[in-house]
Amino acid sequence: MSAGRETRAAGSAAEGLVCPRCARGYPPSERFCVACGMPLVHASGGEQKATARQRRARKVKPQYAQGQLVKVARAQHQSEAEFIEGLLLEEGIPCMLRRSRGFDVSEMLAAGPRDVLVPASGAQAAREALAWEPSDDPAQEGSGA
Ligand SMILES: [Zn+2]
Repeated sequence: MSAGRETRAAGSAAEGLVCPRCARGYPPSERFCVACGMPLVHASGGEQKATARQRRARKVKPQYAQGQLVKVARAQHQSEAEFIEGLLLEEGIPCMLRRSRGFDVSEMLAAGPRDVLVPASGAQAAREALAWEPSDDPAQEGSGA
């Protein structure tokens, strides 16, 4: 129910062995994977190859993962939305992409704009992360300093 999912610290499976190839788990008494014959490695040892999703999940900061989802940005299409998602993840902010309201027409499903939503606790950081400063803005010439 709550958004704050606890990530269990490594350590409980310190004794476990795992096959580096098929990721099968073994007790510490084993030496080789029975399926592929690979020498087993410690499950909690060095960084295994993590899936993209795991890497992303690891980046998320729990303090940014709380509260209601709020809209912080709007993307014109899916790939822009994914770009924004990547930016936010770099800051540790989880986000969710949702089709913008009013574009629920079937032809628009694939191409329509997307709302980018983040948990309320991450909204401020998300807005800052997304605050691109337009480099060529003629409106801002010289403000009295
Ligand atoms: Zn194996």
